[in-house]
Amino acid sequence: MGSLGIFNPGRNALIRAVILRTVPILLVIAVGVGGILHFSTSRSDALALERQTKLVSFVLNQSIAAIANDQEASTYWDDAVIRTRERPLDMEWLDNNLGVWFHTYYKHDETYLLDSANRPIYAMQNGVRVQPEAAFQRVDEAALKLAAGLRRRLMVSHVAPEGSHGQTIGAVETGLIDGRPAIISLKPIVSETGEIAQQPGAQYLHLSIRYLDGSFLADLSKLYDIDNAGFSWSPTGAASIPVSGPGDTKLGYIIWSPFEPGEQVEDRMVPALTAALLVIGLMISFLLGRIRRSRMELEASRAQAQHLAFHDSLTGLPNRALFEDRLEHALARRGSETAVLLLDLDRFKNVNDTLGHQAGDALIREFGLRLAGLIRSGDTISRLGGDEFAIILENPGSQEVHRLAKRILKEVDRPFDILGSQVHIGVSIGVALSAEAGTDRLEIVRKADIALYRAKDGGRNDYCLFNAFMDETVKLRSRIEEELREALSTGRGLCLHYQPQVGTNGRVIGLEALVRWDHPIRGLISPEQFVPIAEDCGLIVPLGEWVLGQACHTARRWPKLFVAINLSPVQLRAHGFFDNLMRIVRGAGADPANLQLEVTERVLLDDDESVKTVLAKLRDAGFTIVLDDFGTGYSSLSYLRRFEVDKIKIDRSFVQHLGEASESGAIVSAVLALGNALGLSVAAEGVETEAQQIFLNVAGCKEMQGYYFSRAVPAEEVERLLDGGSLSSEAA
Ligand code: C2E
Ligand code: CA
Ligand code: CA
Repeated sequence: MGSLGIFNPGRNALIRAVILRTVPILLVIAVGVGGILHFSTSRSDALALERQTKLVSFVLNQSIAAIANDQEASTYWDDAVIRTRERPLDMEWLDNNLGVWFHTYYKHDETYLLDSANRPIYAMQNGVRVQPEAAFQRVDEAALKLAAGLRRRLMVSHVAPEGSHGQTIGAVETGLIDGRPAIISLKPIVSETGEIAQQPGAQYLHLSIRYLDGSFLADLSKLYDIDNAGFSWSPTGAASIPVSGPGDTKLGYIIWSPFEPGEQVEDRMVPALTAALLVIGLMISFLLGRIRRSRMELEASRAQAQHLAFHDSLTGLPNRALFEDRLEHALARRGSETAVLLLDLDRFKNVNDTLGHQAGDALIREFGLRLAGLIRSGDTISRLGGDEFAIILENPGSQEVHRLAKRILKEVDRPFDILGSQVHIGVSIGVALSAEAGTDRLEIVRKADIALYRAKDGGRNDYCLFNAFMDETVKLRSRIEEELREALSTGRGLCLHYQPQVGTNGRVIGLEALVRWDHPIRGLISPEQFVPIAEDCGLIVPLGEWVLGQACHTARRWPKLFVAINLSPVQLRAHGFFDNLMRIVRGAGADPANLQLEVTERVLLDDDESVKTVLAKLRDAGFTIVLDDFGTGYSSLSYLRRFEVDKIKIDRSFVQHLGEASESGAIVSAVLALGNALGLSVAAEGVETEAQQIFLNVAGCKEMQGYYFSRAVPAEEVERLLDGGSLSSEAA
């Protein structure tokens, strides 16, 4: 499929095209998938943050509530009321039940005991008992304010469990201690049984402090998976909740690194997605490549089919269909002139027959190449079939057609090197210009064909331009053809005249049958005019049969004389010629021994095996074969030997000039000598004068024919000639 390659663009171009298509697709997929992924992950991140925020708030509130709860385990207790009031205080007991124990068990950072007058009687900081007054100074500001409020409430309400939670009254708030955020919780130490009398508002108070920037944060991280929890004065970072102080003042913020499950998913998904996209990209580009390639192949084969439909496979030139199409278009262009050249190779058949079809093909190809080298790029060369070519020239200059035709003739003059043989051929060219021949496609081709015919007729290897006169001739020819057909079918107008041939003693020895056509309007038409037309259109076969039948019929009237009949080369080559001839001759009851068949050198020129066979069969059947018009054209002695003929007829062109200062005499003498040597009879035709007759007589010519003896006359007149003896007397 090498030719397909022509239509395939380069591999790089293919890759580029595929990438150009793949990349946008991938981008769209990437943006789509990325967008969806991002949307869902950020949604889940937001959800997670919302939950964490709720959780941290909850834990904070829980912690605040828990401190009071923790305290209550020791403050709502008869023992505690008693022990805090006794003096001296049992410090160890206080540590174990109201101080250090809170730190170790509940993680309270600081604990203080205040008496009825809010004086600190016990203090613990970070699990260590310390001097109460000094330590309390750090917290007294916030604590005392809270204590005052609590005592007021204690005075007016029951101490014992209130509210649904069953808790004792207390006061708790978040505030700053020493610049640190803390939960500050106060609880009165009260009798759980109520058996110990206590003055409302004058109860001892238990104060617990838990800093929000210490172990609280560590617990937050450890127990609730809140990462990097810290306290900040401003809501920095992605996650924070405010911590409110007394009177809804903002103390600061608990901040942490939010848990971002979406982000984690994203982090894990992105490489996987990228890999997936790459794989998809590869698959898409592979598929696109395949699709593109097969589409290109399809297009290529379509283009090739198109090409095949409109081009000749041997030469690659446009074929007849494309020629007609281009010509149609060229002629349709307004204001432009078109020239059509029809070309026909001369002697192409010879090449085909002698060197074979391969050589013929090679010659056609080579000729096509040479032609292609001669025309402009816009012009069209086409092979119409066989050895026929055509050229369309658009807007040729006035001399261009002539120049091109001459160049083609010159180019063909150079021998062709075909399969190792030097081949000489010629070409005939017929030209029609739209200015002269019109712009109808069929008409202009027909007229170019007329010109081609003319060029061939004029001796070949020439070119000829169509003119209106030619068309007239052609039209006349076709009219004659029509009328000849009519004459043959009705048998009216045609007749045979006979021209005598005489022997040495002046006696008539034979008659040549010559056809005559008495046309109702045109009068007598010479066979030299209508026989070639009959040959061209095939009418020569029925015409020849008619002549043969007539001549045979007449021959029976003069059994002592021979009758000569002219045979056209076309007749000889016609299928079934021999059988038809025999049928007619036998039908007419004629004897082949009395019939002479005249053929011209033209017949022998073609070197046709079948013609040779027919001639041999005719000879065997008893006919005399005469070589007519001997000496004209391509006379060659070899014909005489190869085709066994019985008689030669020296052409009248030689006879005419006998006696004049010319070489005709020598030629005629030589032909007579040759005939004698080969054992052939020799006749001379066209004898018009006595001098010619004498010369021929002296040279040893034994048969003569010509106006000197008689013109061709109707059969009845032959009778008179023979009877009247006018002929013999003139000849004597
Ligand atoms: P051709 O076979 O050479 O015939 C001789 C021609 O020379 C005849 O012309 C004849 O009239 C003419 N002729 C005879 N004597 C003289 C003479 O002394 N001087 C001159 N100048 N001419 C003379 P025609 O009858 O016009 O025939 C012309 C040609 O037509 C023949 O030439 C022959 O080739 C062809 N032809 C005639 N009848 C037939 C036919 O029935 N069949 C075929 N195939 N061809 C025919
Ligand atoms: Ca003749
Ligand atoms: Ca002749």
